[in-house]
Amino acid sequence: MTVAISRLLLEQIMTLARSSRDEICGLLLGRPDDITAILPADNVAPDPARHFELDPARLLSAYRDARTGGPQVVGHFHSHPSGRPVPSATDAACAVPDGRLWLIVTGETARLWIAGPGEGGATAFVEAALDVR
Ligand SMILES: [Zn+2]
Repeated sequence: MTVAISRLLLEQIMTLARSSRDEICGLLLGRPDDITAILPADNVAPDPARHFELDPARLLSAYRDARTGGPQVVGHFHSHPSGRPVPSATDAACAVPDGRLWLIVTGETARLWIAGPGEGGATAFVEAALDVR
């Protein structure tokens, strides 16, 4: 699977990642194969340097907007400030196998993953190609 994103949006996310020692996070909006907007959200995790938790108020309002004709929520992004842009054990434990996009960035690089069903009800991440335009 290939998912399109503009260079501008990707650069906005990586700039956010570079600006913080904590994990940054937000929502990806658009279509499953075309990210057309991002919505940065506060990371409300108790330990934001190592985990992320999207501000629930932001999530609720984005889903409400989507239901009333706004852009669809197709996934989210977060950063790994000192790691590689691959899903961590914590990411896998928190993920739901719902087919949503997981964009993981460091300050320099980004990789896209899709959360799908794994063995025994677990979540398996499959990497998707990013078409940066
Ligand atoms: Zn992570």
